[in-house]
Amino acid sequence: MNIGIVGTGYVGLVTGACFSESGNNVICIDVDEGKIKSLEKGNVPFYEPGLDDLVRKNFKEGRLHFTTDLAEAVKKSFILFIAVGTPPNGDGSANIEAVLDVARSIGQYLDDYKVIVTKSTVPVGTTEMVREVISGVTDVEFDVASNPEFLKEGAAVEDFMKPDRVVIGADKASVAGILKELYSPFVRTSNPVISVGIKSSELAKYAANAMLATRISFMNEIANLCELIGADVSEVRVTMGADSRIGHSFLFPGIGYGGSCFPKDVKALIKTAEKLDYDLKICRVTDEVNTVQRELFWRKIKLFFKGELKGKKFGVWGLSFKPKTDDLREAPALFIIDKLLSLGAQVSVHDPVAMDKAKEYFGTKVNYAKSNYDVCTDADALIVHTEWNEYRQPDFEKMKKLMKLPVIFDGRNLYNSKRLENLGFQYFGVGISNICS
Ligand code: NAD
Repeated sequence: MNIGIVGTGYVGLVTGACFSESGNNVICIDVDEGKIKSLEKGNVPFYEPGLDDLVRKNFKEGRLHFTTDLAEAVKKSFILFIAVGTPPNGDGSANIEAVLDVARSIGQYLDDYKVIVTKSTVPVGTTEMVREVISGVTDVEFDVASNPEFLKEGAAVEDFMKPDRVVIGADKASVAGILKELYSPFVRTSNPVISVGIKSSELAKYAANAMLATRISFMNEIANLCELIGADVSEVRVTMGADSRIGHSFLFPGIGYGGSCFPKDVKALIKTAEKLDYDLKICRVTDEVNTVQRELFWRKIKLFFKGELKGKKFGVWGLSFKPKTDDLREAPALFIIDKLLSLGAQVSVHDPVAMDKAKEYFGTKVNYAKSNYDVCTDADALIVHTEWNEYRQPDFEKMKKLMKLPVIFDGRNLYNSKRLENLGFQYFGVGISNICS
């Protein structure tokens, strides 16, 4: 099939590369000329495991193309996916301007029957608005559908290639059939294609993200209670997860969720409900707990140093909002480092892949270390923000020798508190009984 993907970010590029890998002819379109030029040279502008190889291979074999020319792409494509960003407005609602702009342009260039699909995460009613916007500028026949994306950054290619489920929201069986055929190579092992109405499809994406975010916030509250009670949240978590009705996923407490999806999608869902005079209480509190969680972690650091942070040296392990990505959007690390800097602390950072993106954000305000041990040199404390595998079993003796004070604030509970105490560290995790107040 001839496919056009408008928006060549995390979702658009993975979608385009994976569709081309299954033999389709794919054009990826973006307004960012730099991004398109870099992709034409085979350079993926962000870190995503396995994506470079897939892009280079399919580009070389002539199935994957890049352009800024939407008119040409519309002409050559039978299915057009809209995968542009839907960032939050100031009030938390989703900004769908880019989606509607793209829809209008597609309408203006439409020359034959095509299917236009919203892949971006969009509030209920947006796909219908896409239909109205296109109808307003053309008489050419077309159909719309919703096909939200569930991939996870850090495992995006694998998620797309082997999805838990594919959701297709369409009001015509013929349209659902076209998309089902396109996805058939990815669901050969019986994972379902779920065909639903357009509104249900749009809402399902938000509901799924809000549920996952709620599990995290729930566990963060349990962790905070553990600290007050003197229980260990790791033990509570394992016990809870052993119940097959609960399961072990998404029960890890920490410094709160970040990234480009959970924070914005929870807020947007609350706004969708608000417009209908419905108070989505659970989501509201999920969001609130998430904001408070990083503040509580910061308070621990501040309390330990009695508020005297000027001139203190901090080593930081992990900047991205989760491992295996360089995405810093809404990363808790940025919040903590900004706080440290605002009180005059010196910060040395390490992240396996997000250092370039961090340079764009922090400039010369922090030191960029060559290795994770380098940040420990003369440090008054080490702060762990991201659970990268390479931080899981470090050489603690070496760290202790390098650090001025053997103090670790661990926002991801990577280490065993008793073991670290035996090694002579002061260790502060999340939901582990040693609260420092
Ligand atoms: P992104 O910011 O990485 O990419 C968006 C791309 O769209 C950018 O390259 C931008 O230049 C381009 N763009 C903006 N306006 C355009 C226009 N008018 N024409 C052409 N291109 C344009 O965003 P993303 O992370 O890929 O997210 C895209 C959508 O997918 C969002 O709605 C997001 O919520 C959703 N989503 C994201 C993820 C994720 O993990 N990132 C997962 C599932 C769903």
